[in-house]
Amino acid sequence: MAGPIGWETVSCPLCGANRERELLVVPAAEGRPFRLVGCGACGLAYLNPRPDVASIGHFYPDDYHAYHGGHDLDTGAVENLGPRARRALAWRTAPARDSFTAIPYCGQGRLLDVGCGSGWYAARMRGLGWDVVGLDFSAFAAAQATRRYGIRTLVGTLPHGDIAPESFDAITMGMVLEHVHDPHRMIAAAVKALRPGGLLAIAVPNFASLGYRIFGADWWGLDLPLHLLHFTPTTLLRLVAAHGLAVRECRLIPRRSWLGKSARKAKERGSPASRTLFGRLARIRPVASLLSRWADWTGQSDSLFLLAQRLPVIRTAEPQRTPTVALGRRAAE
Ligand SMILES: [Zn+2]
Repeated sequence: MAGPIGWETVSCPLCGANRERELLVVPAAEGRPFRLVGCGACGLAYLNPRPDVASIGHFYPDDYHAYHGGHDLDTGAVENLGPRARRALAWRTAPARDSFTAIPYCGQGRLLDVGCGSGWYAARMRGLGWDVVGLDFSAFAAAQATRRYGIRTLVGTLPHGDIAPESFDAITMGMVLEHVHDPHRMIAAAVKALRPGGLLAIAVPNFASLGYRIFGADWWGLDLPLHLLHFTPTTLLRLVAAHGLAVRECRLIPRRSWLGKSARKAKERGSPASRTLFGRLARIRPVASLLSRWADWTGQSDSLFLLAQRLPVIRTAEPQRTPTVALGRRAAE
């Protein structure tokens, strides 16, 4: 890791309160331990102190997994397909309901994929007919997305100087929001970049999951210190509501492998959870899958999906001015 890490202590990134209580202290491989706190006012869990904006990049080396996922695709072949073949491909590659960012598609549209990583999701959405732009704060990732899939990319985050107001029909943030320092700034910029009526799709790990309750520091969705924020349905809804977005859908989505991965991590670290019956069972792959289904049935899945809409502008007719009102106004001036 090059250079010193700048650590900053912050107020609650969601509501601004200073009423934190300590939830966990997790030893780090090197340097200071990671301290997770919960806000006593709004319930958001967050890392505090946390690496500042200038030094967070140290935790995202070029081999970060999100910059390498997906499959190489012959983009030229997809571009040259006729409409029928493209529809057939779209049907086969359409995001499942369990996808992080499955969004309704209505014919044509411009889509911005925030945190595009290796670009596989952006490529899939382009295959469905979207006109896609990828955005990633890693120049390496953005270059990968362009090289592997021919995706047009921008380097940076939201807000971004090259993104015009009302220029997108949909914005997707799959497993992104938990990584950012200022979630309000990002959502406000997304709202501005969406046309009225446009859709914002967000997926984040679910801090109110069975996985976190059982495995705590070893829960796969925790990923400290990369995940600065840890949302529940309540705190995620609070965030989007603060920006006047209308929530179209908020549901839990399973991450089938996470309980098993959490259990194996707990075992590696010799955590108490690895010695519980649940911890032992979750290390057996088929059992972990069943436990994961049980978590879904009981509303404790490992991740959350939220679809929100920027409200369309409703144009009302100019109110009729009666002479009395006009006179009254003038009199008041
Ligand atoms: Zn708060």
